[in-house]
Amino acid sequence: ESQLNPNYNFDNFLEGDSNRLARSAGMAVANKPGGTSFNPLLIFGGVGLGKTHLAHAIGVEIKDKHPDKTVLYISAEKFTQQYIESVKKNTRNDFIHFYQLIDVLIIDDVQFFSGKSGTQDVFFHIFNHLHQNGKQVILTSDKAPVDMQDIEQRLLSRFKWGLSAELQSPDYETRVSILNNKLYRDGVEMPEEIIEYVARNIKSNVRELEGAVISLIAQSSFNKKEVTLDLAKQIVEKFVKNTKREVSIDYIQKVISDYFQMDVETLQSKTRKRHIVQARQLAMFFAKKYTKASLASIGSQIGKRDHATVLHACKTVDNLGETDKQFKKYIEDLNKKFSQ
Ligand code: ADP
Ligand code: MG
Repeated sequence: ESQLNPNYNFDNFLEGDSNRLARSAGMAVANKPGGTSFNPLLIFGGVGLGKTHLAHAIGVEIKDKHPDKTVLYISAEKFTQQYIESVKKNTRNDFIHFYQLIDVLIIDDVQFFSGKSGTQDVFFHIFNHLHQNGKQVILTSDKAPVDMQDIEQRLLSRFKWGLSAELQSPDYETRVSILNNKLYRDGVEMPEEIIEYVARNIKSNVRELEGAVISLIAQSSFNKKEVTLDLAKQIVEKFVKNTKREVSIDYIQKVISDYFQMDVETLQSKTRKRHIVQARQLAMFFAKKYTKASLASIGSQIGKRDHATVLHACKTVDNLGETDKQFKKYIEDLNKKFSQ
C-alpha cells in the first residue's frame, strides 16, 4: 500500500511562478527517482500552499513511470506513531528494516519531528541507508531547514544535501487558473467577475481559495441562490475574517519607510547610516513577527540580505527595545499599525 492519493497529481497541480521550481524539481525526481542531485527533495512553504498535493503528485508520477519501484507516502505524525508503537512492542528493528527496503520514501510535514529525538534518531538511520543505496527521499515542511527548530544538527545537514524548494503564495494569474480549473473539473460555470473577485481577495492560501468557491457552488446549487457579486463578497469575507489577515513584507517596508520619512529604496540600501539601518532592522523584525516568511525569504526581500542578517536584526531590535526609550516608542507605534 503506497498510501498515495491519485487525486493529487501533476495534471491538476497548476504551475505558476510561485511553484515552478518545486514543481519542476518534483518532475525531475519523478523521472529519475534517486538519480538526480535532488536527494532529498525538500518542499517547504506555508499552510495550504500545495505541499501535500505536490508530494503525492511526485509519488503518483513515479508509480506511473516506474511501476516496479516501491513508493510510500506517510505523514511525519503517522511515522512517529508507528515508531513509538514499535518501541513498545519491541519491534524497532522491524520498523527500521521495513523503511530501509523502500525505493521512494515521502514524508509529509517533517516539522512534526521537532523535539522528538527518538524519532529523529531512527529517521536519521533510515535516511542514511536509503541515501547510500540511491533511494529517493522526498520531504515536506512548513519551514526551510535554516528556520527549523528543535531538529538535530546532523539531520538538518542531511536535509540540506539535496534541494530545498519553496512553495510561495500564488500570484493573481495562478489563483485565477486554479479557480477556473476547479470549476471546470466540477462542471460548474461562474461569471468571470466573481472568479476575479475571489482571486483578488484570497491571496495567501490555496485551500481557502478553493473553499470559497466550494461554498459558492453549494449556495447556488443547494440553496438555489444566484451567484452574485454580493454573495461572493459575503463568502469571501467569512474566509478572510477567519484567518488573520496577513501583512505582507512589501506593506511592512512601505509603512516603516513612511514612518521614518524615507523611501523604500533607501530602507533597502547598503548604507550604514544609523537611522536607516534601524529602519531596515525594524522591517526585518516585523516581517518575522507578522508574516510566515522564512528568515532567508525576509532577507532576500528586504535588500537582498541573508538569513543571519535578519536574525541579527531581530535580536538587535529586541535589545534596543529594552534599553532605548525612543526606540521602544518606534516599536510600539509600528506594532499598532500592523497588529489590527
Ligand atoms: P499544504 O500541504 O501545503 O498545506 P495542500 O497540498 O493540502 O497544502 O493544498 C491545499 C489545497 O490547495 C489542496 O486542495 C490542493 O489540491 C490545492 N492546491 C495547492 N496548490 C495547488 C496548485 N498549484 N494547483 C492546484 N491546486 C492546488
Ligand atoms: Mg499538507
